[in-house]
Amino acid sequence: MPKPSDRTTKRRRTFKRLPGGKTVKRVKGKMKGKARCGKCGAELHGIPRDTRKLSKSEKTVNRPYGGHYCSRCLREKIKEKIKSLGERLAQVAQESQHPPTS
Ligand SMILES: [Zn+2]
Repeated sequence: MPKPSDRTTKRRRTFKRLPGGKTVKRVKGKMKGKARCGKCGAELHGIPRDTRKLSKSEKTVNRPYGGHYCSRCLREKIKEKIKSLGERLAQVAQESQHPPTS
């Protein structure tokens, strides 16, 4: 019977085979929390909890801000960027048509 502090789903469990052939459950360190979006806090898909011994492509999502922002927040961010860029371009075009007289 594990001690009460080990009886939680936060602890990582491993199975170890003893010399006598018996398999026992061992409790290791704490599990990492699930990856969450930096903007809205939603749970991120495709990011495993235990990333040890995994290649980079297995650890993260291959897109800008992959593994930091969820797809919905990234979509909003891209839309905002395009909107602000368009506004800035329109401003520059207007200034070039009517240069300020000094
Ligand atoms: Zn988000």
